[in-house]
Amino acid sequence: GACQRHIFRHNDLAHLEELLIAAPADAPKLIAFESVYSMDGDIADMAGTVALAKKYGAMTYLDEVHAVGMYGPRGGGVAERDGLMDQIDIIEGTLGKAFGVMGGYITGDAVVVDAIRLVASGFIFTTSLPPALTAGALASVRWLKQHPEVREAHQERAATLKAMFKAAGLPVMDNDSHIVPVLVGDPHHTKLISDMLLADHGVYVQPINYPTVPRGTERLRFTPTPFHTDDMMRKLVGAMETLWAHCNVARMGGHAA
Ligand SMILES: *Cc1c(COP(=O)(O)O)cnc(C)c1O
Repeated sequence: GACQRHIFRHNDLAHLEELLIAAPADAPKLIAFESVYSMDGDIADMAGTVALAKKYGAMTYLDEVHAVGMYGPRGGGVAERDGLMDQIDIIEGTLGKAFGVMGGYITGDAVVVDAIRLVASGFIFTTSLPPALTAGALASVRWLKQHPEVREAHQERAATLKAMFKAAGLPVMDNDSHIVPVLVGDPHHTKLISDMLLADHGVYVQPINYPTVPRGTERLRFTPTPFHTDDMMRKLVGAMETLWAHCNVARMGGHAA
């Protein structure tokens, strides 16, 4: 049978609690949320969400696709970093982002995973991963587990790029993750800057437009790797300064260049 779905405002635990209070006490409940949000790069209050789940008898479903491989001492995700892995009922990850292959998974108690196996149409009616992909995924997971220094470099590179953009007056949308969004605020300029970065400067960054983000918050979304050098970043910032002036896009503080 269909369940009722209630949507709590983004990262708003007070609103989540209101919805939990309003629901019948005996109704089974599942709180679905993400750790790192893909477009703003903000991170959920996981401990707070877990506390609410306990208080109101809800299960938790956590999407960690933007965190597995990248956060936690062994790349287990933000739940591992925050010491909360055993407090979350179901964790979803992808093999297609940090792990660099494709496919995905959920983890949880065996009884929960079994129950989902029986009803998940995406699992039952889709070709399963071929051996080459699973071997690649396994090698990647094993390697990332043992290389926290790559995660540290990843965070450092993202922080450096944010600082360089800010120093140039480019409107970075601040957050505590590896995602570096730069606000353009207009879909045509976002596409134009993305095209020119590739054509004239050899930098590929995707334009993020509505409906992926709200209108008026169109942006470029940079995700530097541990292997992007200072020199590459300096060239990028130079290119961005040129294009910002070309498109007359607002800088930090609202002044047009
Ligand atoms: C990428 C992504 C997924 C899963 O991606 P797959 O390509 O299907 O592995 C799930 N949730 C979010 C928020 C994502 O960004």
